[in-house]
Amino acid sequence: MLNEQVEQTSQEGLRQLTYSQRNLATLIDHVHSSVRLLGADERLVSFLRTQAPVQRTELSTFWSRMLENQLIYTHVRLINEAGQELIRLNVNSKQSRFVEEGELQNKIERDYFKFAQQLEAGNSGAFGLDLEMENGALVLPYTPAIRVIMPVDSDGQRLGYIVANLNVAFLMNSLNYSLNSSQLPEVVNEQGYYLFSNSGNLTFGHLIKERREHNLRLKNPSLWQEMTDKIRGFVFDGDSLHVFITTDLHPKNLDNHTFFVLNYSLKDIQHSARDVIGTIKRDFILSLLLVFLVSIGIALVIARQRYHSLEAKLARAALQGMSPVVISDKHNRILKINAEFTRLTGYESDDVLGKKPSMLSSGEHDQEYYREMWEQLNRKGSWEGEIKNRTKSGSIITELMRIQAIKDRFNVAQYYIASYVEITERKQLEEQLRRLSERDELTQLWNRRKFNQELEYQSKLISRYAAKSSDCCIAIIDVDHFKQVNDQYGHQHGDKVLGIVADTLRVQCRSTDFISRVGGEEFAVIMPHTSVGNAEIVLNRLRIAIHYRNDNKVSISAGLSTLTGDPVQSYKQADDALYKAKSEGRNQVTIYSS
Ligand code: GH3
Ligand code: MG
Ligand code: MG
Repeated sequence: MLNEQVEQTSQEGLRQLTYSQRNLATLIDHVHSSVRLLGADERLVSFLRTQAPVQRTELSTFWSRMLENQLIYTHVRLINEAGQELIRLNVNSKQSRFVEEGELQNKIERDYFKFAQQLEAGNSGAFGLDLEMENGALVLPYTPAIRVIMPVDSDGQRLGYIVANLNVAFLMNSLNYSLNSSQLPEVVNEQGYYLFSNSGNLTFGHLIKERREHNLRLKNPSLWQEMTDKIRGFVFDGDSLHVFITTDLHPKNLDNHTFFVLNYSLKDIQHSARDVIGTIKRDFILSLLLVFLVSIGIALVIARQRYHSLEAKLARAALQGMSPVVISDKHNRILKINAEFTRLTGYESDDVLGKKPSMLSSGEHDQEYYREMWEQLNRKGSWEGEIKNRTKSGSIITELMRIQAIKDRFNVAQYYIASYVEITERKQLEEQLRRLSERDELTQLWNRRKFNQELEYQSKLISRYAAKSSDCCIAIIDVDHFKQVNDQYGHQHGDKVLGIVADTLRVQCRSTDFISRVGGEEFAVIMPHTSVGNAEIVLNRLRIAIHYRNDNKVSISAGLSTLTGDPVQSYKQADDALYKAKSEGRNQVTIYSS
């Protein structure tokens, strides 16, 4: 039981880490494109050349509009080629604030500045995680940071850099995966020091002297060994379970690895094994929200600025490289789609411009569904939900969609912005998980767990309706000398034989029979409304068919018993009969007799 839970929790943990990793990569990608977008602003170059106050004001206005409420940043700066900060915007949920010119600092000595100097023109780069420093000293409380940096060049000359500091706590929280787990992955660097931990005062032992002893390599050498040997895996030591994957925080330009580790206590294991399926959707909703943070900024720019203004141009550029977005006008006619949308659906601009988004509908939702969507959109100004749409090639994809109505000052909707996250794969995974919990992967028969449930259920029926119930049989089937089959023809061939046995069972048994694979080469069948005599005939037919289908090289033995109100005893009887069949020479069906 515990082993099974450990296994399940590990799989779940690995899944969580994989999605966390993917989410993080997506987020950092978004940041790169946003920062590149800021760097493409022409006013930047002229401000860096002249440092005229008018241009500073213009630039600042633009920045605050683009970055307001973008809580993924802690601050965004413009630094000149000599390391001097020129503009610094501290981003805050309440009010973002530009730092007074007198308080701006020189950063020429910082590692990340040296890193920035090596970036090629037009290429953004990421640096960190490390700790924030101000005026040459670590910031207290210690504040971890990742920086995304975009150099600003003009006519082959380096003029400065945009440096965006990311809010690491916010980033990490976005990695949280399941609704009922408050636990975040620990992030550990190549030397074993914590970069992120659920208890904050363990982190950055390589930078903070007093924390030097907090190191996973020293704390748990056997786990560390496993982590350095494998890309992903888990270690269970009887008390706690550690699940890990190796990842790259900055796949583009850092060659060092980072580890993500999830830790579970025994209690966690029992808890998390209980509900695997229900918890899947959340990280998608989160990343959707984040995408939305970006697209809403753009939407506001489009809605408020003149179409040909630089802002609007930049906003349109921003539509590239994000998740799929569709903007439609107040009559719900499509105005604009982005490249991601084309990639997802196959539709080009020419296919969709001027048409209604309902052209995408899959036909899988009824009128009521869309009516409610519009009702809510008009009332609340936004709608969010799962939707199935049809691609140009006709296949149906599942998406999480968020639609936002952009209203004018008279509260009349002028634009609708729909952003999507595709979850087709996710839905399939859900389905797969459900199957995994009931089906055997190799043969697609019911698995042992499901068999036990069914056995108990049928047994209960029998004891409850003793007077009325007709015979029900239970058969256990085992392949003879299967080890030899494996040894002689290879494991793969062995698997094929198991497939043939499963297929033959499916063909020979009734549709009301319950067929399962209960062990390696052991199958069990519950046969309701079947007398022992009839069951014996069926099993012999089965035995001969399997023998025949395997060129007389493979045989099976079977044990048969009636099912009573005691499932455990009934199973044991069938098993005893099987043992008898084996000991009497195999390739035969034996009925239990006491
Ligand atoms: P017996 O006639 O007494 O049943 O002999 P046997 O060789 O079948 O004996 P036993 O039941 O001990 O061995 C079963 C073998 O089946 C052992 C294992 O290597 C093999 N096996 C278990 N699961 C699988 C599987 O999924 N695929 C393959 N190819 N082999 C498996
Ligand atoms: Mg066997
Ligand atoms: Mg066996």
